[in-house]
Amino acid sequence: MSKPSLAALQQPPLRRAEGAGSGSESAAADARANLLGMPRTELERFFVDLGEKPWRAKQVMKWIYHAGVAEFDAMTDISQALRNRLSDIARIEAPVLTPFPAAADGTRKWSVAVGDGSERVEAVLIPEPSARGSARGRPSQEEPSARGSARGLPSQEEPSAGGRARGLSSQELEKPGRSTLCISSQVGCVLDCAFCATGKQGFNGNLSRAEIVGQAWAVARQLATEGSGRGITNIVFMGMGEPLYNFDAVVDAASVFTDDLGLGISRRRVTISTAGVAPRIRELASRSEVSLAVSLHAAEDELRSQLVPLNRRYPIAELLAACRHWLGQLGDRRSVTIEYTLMEGVNDALADAAKLAGLLGDLRCKVNLIPFNPFPGSQFKRPSMQRVRAFQTHLLGAGIPAMLRTTRGDDITAACGQLVGLVRDRTRRQARHLARRTGMAPDEQLLRVTSP
Ligand code: SF4
Repeated sequence: MSKPSLAALQQPPLRRAEGAGSGSESAAADARANLLGMPRTELERFFVDLGEKPWRAKQVMKWIYHAGVAEFDAMTDISQALRNRLSDIARIEAPVLTPFPAAADGTRKWSVAVGDGSERVEAVLIPEPSARGSARGRPSQEEPSARGSARGLPSQEEPSAGGRARGLSSQELEKPGRSTLCISSQVGCVLDCAFCATGKQGFNGNLSRAEIVGQAWAVARQLATEGSGRGITNIVFMGMGEPLYNFDAVVDAASVFTDDLGLGISRRRVTISTAGVAPRIRELASRSEVSLAVSLHAAEDELRSQLVPLNRRYPIAELLAACRHWLGQLGDRRSVTIEYTLMEGVNDALADAAKLAGLLGDLRCKVNLIPFNPFPGSQFKRPSMQRVRAFQTHLLGAGIPAMLRTTRGDDITAACGQLVGLVRDRTRRQARHLARRTGMAPDEQLLRVTSP
């Protein structure tokens, strides 16, 4: 995490530097520090550097995250002189979100303009019908929360009601249930997992922490405006990108998500999902206490290296050792979520289930089984439910907690691995992918991929 200083405010803005992050060219050229996404300790230092008391950070965070305010002038318990000064040197700026039509199952997706506004990532909200509803969709944590679910940002006129308690009382069962927001951390993805539409688009950089936090902040604000009475209860870093390759920004964003003065979501309900960047998994527990999900998808190295090329760098044994280290560091009976996408004839046989059970036998974990979501051009197929159930039954019989995650938002291409956005492909991966499929020469133009 970089320490903010007034001197830094004088520097020309770097693309997606910590202070940057929005969906317009004018914002990209704005050298004022973006306070959105700034962790509390850093914001305190920011005010100390201004000659103010550190508690100003609490004041401002309440306005930003509890009241949904983006203008300093609306912060009426701050002196006019300080408000004017803040407006001169700082801003609160989220990326611009454009909604897609909602899916039939209630899943919602937004296109998020980032960088200079010409590139887009996506964020997806998966509401559950009730606490009794099945745990479905884009994988997310299902563990009980010690602190309750996140507050929804009230409209500017309304006082914050604080977090909503989560329990399983009969009254609670009648209330709206979990609402999980899946956010992106990079524009495209540098990894090229064989089964992932995002991975086919190439890569064009990291999101700033303002662009990461801004996805949740803007969606929460939208929900409050709609008066849905339901805020975001869970956040998962399972959108575009490998979060641990944008480590500092993701850790900072997670601290804002879990801070009581931020979105106030339980650390167990914020999940960083990784394809297996083992060194960063080891480091994560010393930087954040949020939950961890690992995309495994195969129980042996040869197959996993084909599905998740990162495995060649960090093979399964090294990856699981890092997971054990992470568990040992947290020491609070946390478990690792293992994501396993089932692909017909690839990794869905009972023999695969047996290997997986053997591999995970001594790891404190639970397994999310995700039937593959086909996308245009994908070479894999979704297995039958019979095979999926058989795989799950085998794991359960071996004592491995295994949950089936059916997909949500298929009709708006919001399901796992279907987020594509608009990526200026520096790696030219998509051009090469299309060239392989069509025989046409690679095209370096900006590539518009799928949209609902
Ligand atoms: S599955 Fe995740 S890590 Fe792999 S290419 Fe897709 S977005 Fe990147």
